[in-house]
Amino acid sequence: MSKMEVKTSLLDNMIGVGDMVLLEPLTEESFIDNLRKRFDHSEIYTYIGSVVISLNPYKSLPIFTADKVEEYRNRNFYELSPHIYALADEAYRSLRDQDKDQCILITGESGAGKTEASKLVMSYVAAVCGKGQEVNKVKEQLLQSNPVLEAFGNAKTVRNDNSSRFGKYMDIEFDFKGDPMGGVISNYLLEKSRVVKQPRGERNFHIFYQLLSGASEDLLKKLKLDRDFSKYNYLSLDSATVNGLDDAANFRTVRNAMQIVGFMEDEVQSVLELVAAVLKLGNIEFKPESRVNGFDESRVKDKNDLKEMCELLGIEQSVLERAFSFRTVEAKMEKVSTTLNVAQAYYARDALAKNLYSRLFSWLVNRINESIKAQSKTRKKVMGVLDIYGFEIFEDNSFEQFIINYCNEKLQQIFIELTLREEQEEYIREGIEWTNIEYFNNAIICDLIENNISKDECLRPGNVTDETFLEKLNTVCAYHQHFESRRSKNSKFLTDHSLPHNCFRIQHYAGKVLYRVEGFVDKNNDLLYRDLSQAMYKANHSLMKLLFPEGNPAKVNLKRPPTAGFQFKASVGTLMKNLQTKNPNYIRCIKPNDKKAPHIFTESLVCHQVRYLGLMENVRVRRAGYAFRQPYEPCLERYKMLCKQTWPHWKGPAREGVEVLLTELQVSPEEFSYGRSKIFIRNPRTLFFLEEKRRQ
Ligand code: ATP
Ligand code: MG
Repeated sequence: MSKMEVKTSLLDNMIGVGDMVLLEPLTEESFIDNLRKRFDHSEIYTYIGSVVISLNPYKSLPIFTADKVEEYRNRNFYELSPHIYALADEAYRSLRDQDKDQCILITGESGAGKTEASKLVMSYVAAVCGKGQEVNKVKEQLLQSNPVLEAFGNAKTVRNDNSSRFGKYMDIEFDFKGDPMGGVISNYLLEKSRVVKQPRGERNFHIFYQLLSGASEDLLKKLKLDRDFSKYNYLSLDSATVNGLDDAANFRTVRNAMQIVGFMEDEVQSVLELVAAVLKLGNIEFKPESRVNGFDESRVKDKNDLKEMCELLGIEQSVLERAFSFRTVEAKMEKVSTTLNVAQAYYARDALAKNLYSRLFSWLVNRINESIKAQSKTRKKVMGVLDIYGFEIFEDNSFEQFIINYCNEKLQQIFIELTLREEQEEYIREGIEWTNIEYFNNAIICDLIENNISKDECLRPGNVTDETFLEKLNTVCAYHQHFESRRSKNSKFLTDHSLPHNCFRIQHYAGKVLYRVEGFVDKNNDLLYRDLSQAMYKANHSLMKLLFPEGNPAKVNLKRPPTAGFQFKASVGTLMKNLQTKNPNYIRCIKPNDKKAPHIFTESLVCHQVRYLGLMENVRVRRAGYAFRQPYEPCLERYKMLCKQTWPHWKGPAREGVEVLLTELQVSPEEFSYGRSKIFIRNPRTLFFLEEKRRQ
């Protein structure tokens, strides 16, 4: 077979090129055009070298069948048309055969398809690894953790009907044979404000609707719930039912999944009781009671919901009622009781609901981990899958966006470090000519956030208010700006006089974002009055008790819990360290339109994402260069059969063997560069050619 006849699914002109590295000429326009052409032909995957770009098709495609899995199994990355399975296969084989821990980093904005992609990777790996009853049970448990976490951690938003409102990282552990042994899930910052309030057109977490729609009459009665969503203050009504979402059926799926994962029936019951308690809590309302001294004191308005909540959880009604009217302040070893006004009582109620729900969520994650953890202690290989909220730019950006965007900055930093910089450094190391490529270095932003905002002493009530925090930030920014503008022109802290009141603006890698400081201090501290945690601890409900350990009077700890920002920074730091020890595989998800609709490709939207994901830079780096590289020894080993002089044994240095081999095969010298330890191959076509030769 001649070189021209080699089947290269990457080079089919009808549907664009499968690898952006092959694009001629390379411009942003041709890049987007190529994506569109492929999208129109339902080719949702495109490579940039080993990076997979994934466009959300918003329709089900016949490319995720068992046959497809077989097709991609044990094949070389570039042999077939681009697919997420090819990436998963490559990662899995490299883990199994070369003993390299892997991580799959999935990024993209809300609705771009990250969670779906992570599930495809998991199901592919589950399909190709190990067999046998025990192994199958492990696989099943790992896969079934998804519906459980989605029910409690996902919600319908304007951008995505199944939006993950938490970040998730899952390590799947394998034994030396490559059979799965278990896994560990870490969760990041559940968006708990959603429990008490949802933006217009959005819903609370799925589980509330699933429970009300799917529970039997009997269960509802036990939980003292009404099927009617409109009875609950915490459930927004304008989008209570979502097209294409069958809450009742999903409730059955979730219960089934909980069972497979290993939850006992009474544990499931306890969990649902807490879900019901949150709904009840939201219905507790307050009225002012005037007192002689002129202050208004809060009183529970209609005690029925309070009563039912207390019955559900085994709490003494008077204890909870009191905690909604008074709070105990400890000053100099003395306990002083102060009254709560109505606004403070509502604040306390919502704080309790948010804490209760988010602690329940973390408990669920731990409980799942307990079930899925590896039983044996033999040495493990690990594949980590990261599905974390993408960059967010809303009209109104608050603390949540700030934290989420910080996390994305860190991920981008890793992306830059691991792909771009490593690429450059490798060329330099190997003595291959390299033209420098400018990239957006966002280390400064990460430093700014880490040094000034997420430190524990920052953003503490008493120390700061939202306003003084802003002032401090402005001073720091002005200082940085002064310095930065001397060093480089692209300062990342944007202060100008057009800024609205109480706002600051940061130039993130993905764009400028305006943050409003209102509520920053509050959200960062997430204050829960001790009287309430003590009331919860007194509950005759073992799970509830477990969730509020600080309510134990025997363990009064006067130290304040770490702030949300501080905790988040610490957990992101651990995550980054973990990722850096692994071989990264990237899936960059792109949302083709904001209508959640198939067949629509909104160019401006795609263009924006391509820009901020840094995809053009990514191709340029790949092209400046060489699509492939391989150390001389394995290269010679693989292809020595193609040449009489190298077969069966080559006596000299491997590098010379490779030279002899390529000369004999008459491959054009422009296609190669000889590095110190590796051969660099410019074009994937050359690789196809070699692979085909081997097969003949
Ligand atoms: P978020 O950040 O909000 O969690 P996300 O990036 O995780 O968003 P997904 O939930 O994975 O987005 O995808 C959104 C929706 O897009 C899915 O519910 C599904 O309807 C559709 N979708 C995504 N990927 C695919 C796919 N490969 N095939 C068919 N539909 C898809
Ligand atoms: Mg998601």
